[in-house]
Amino acid sequence: MKVLFLSYEVAPIYKFGGLGDVAFALSKALKKKDIDIRVAMPAYRGMPTPEHIPGTHVPMIYGRDSLFSAEGVVGNKKTPEARARAFAYFGKTILNTVKHTGWVPDIIHLNDWHMGFVAFWLKITTDPYYANTKVIFTIHNTSHQGNFPIKLLLEYHKTKDCGLAIEEGEVNFLKLGITNSDIVTTVSETYSKELAAGKFTFGMSELFKKKGITGILNGIDYDVWNSEKNSHLHICFDQKNVTHGKIINKLWLQRKLKLPASGAIPLISMISRLSEQKGFDIVYPTVKKLLDLPVQWIFMGQGSNNIREQLVALEKLAPGKVKMLDRFDEPLAHQVYASSDFFLIPSTFEPCGLTQMISMRYGTLPISSAVGGLADTVKHKVNGFVFKGHSADAFTHATKQALMVWTDARKLYTMRQKAMSEDFSSDKSAKEYIKLYKKILN
Ligand code: ADP
Repeated sequence: MKVLFLSYEVAPIYKFGGLGDVAFALSKALKKKDIDIRVAMPAYRGMPTPEHIPGTHVPMIYGRDSLFSAEGVVGNKKTPEARARAFAYFGKTILNTVKHTGWVPDIIHLNDWHMGFVAFWLKITTDPYYANTKVIFTIHNTSHQGNFPIKLLLEYHKTKDCGLAIEEGEVNFLKLGITNSDIVTTVSETYSKELAAGKFTFGMSELFKKKGITGILNGIDYDVWNSEKNSHLHICFDQKNVTHGKIINKLWLQRKLKLPASGAIPLISMISRLSEQKGFDIVYPTVKKLLDLPVQWIFMGQGSNNIREQLVALEKLAPGKVKMLDRFDEPLAHQVYASSDFFLIPSTFEPCGLTQMISMRYGTLPISSAVGGLADTVKHKVNGFVFKGHSADAFTHATKQALMVWTDARKLYTMRQKAMSEDFSSDKSAKEYIKLYKKILN
């Protein structure tokens, strides 16, 4: 089976967030299961363009064009019109490039709004090359829609079946993808149900009801997110020596970050885009309330200035207890996951979330809200802590429950064992996607 997989980011070539991890892990797992997969992404200026995704046998195809700026087309410096043009152009370029190779994909698997135009283009093209190719569109986050107030695509307005997506001079790439693909999926069972029930749809409820949406949980790559073999860690550890391994890593990280070094102080961390979606509105009051406790907090992330300022304010209130790391740093992220005792994910909504799966692999217990993929992966007092309802009180309560477990070495050990033995591997999601590919080809 031949699959062309399109994503605007692919780790480790270019990673902006979770989609980059998924594009890597899923394509690698599909290739191992004998799917003839090729992955396409834009070649952002200055980016390395290896023939295969590093560490895999998955061939890469690049859309090479000056439309993609040095900081990546996802960079804020691009105007909306430039971004829309870049992704519209990318889709057409890739389809032409693939056509010249003579390789005809059975499936084109599109990811997020950036690739919505490809579904639209395939629908309106009269070129028979892709006539038998089926299109899957996977939504990793409904709040990002690629909605541009421009007339860029009005030249196509009069063509069939696309009116839904282009209204009054606006083009919505996510709608283009949903409307014009054979099947729409999203990245967890619970998020698919939430969307079907009209929650977190950002104006798309009717469309989801009409089209339907299937949920397949994302997975992570256990060669990358690995506590036993990992060059980023100060020392590696397995399930058996998790207690010792985490303490040694923590002491090392505390010294590196100039925090008081003590294995007896619980370390709570959060690695995340600084975006409202991630629940920072309840992080600030919760942490502020708990600042008197003997706990250390590490925040690492980039994004909203407002959120960064709040975290810096917490750091100023308690410099020996709070560390705000305003950077994107993959090796440091591994060190923080491995060294921490608990991990915060109080998202307002969360299509899947990978950081809870990653932290569990390192024996770090997530404290999460009960939405989307978090609800499908974190089990209260089993492999983490879950709170319902988006409030600082509920979040504070769950954090206090975690700190109670910190004082109970046996329970802590049992929960760490459970978290580390969970199977959230990308192999599992690959199996589900293969089933789906087969289904739509029949
Ligand atoms: P998102 O909604 O941002 O895609 P996910 O939980 O799906 O969230 O995935 C986030 C990914 O990005 C994880 O691999 C996480 O470790 C990584 N990440 C987020 N912020 C940073 C950062 N500042 N430095 C390093 N890695 C980061």
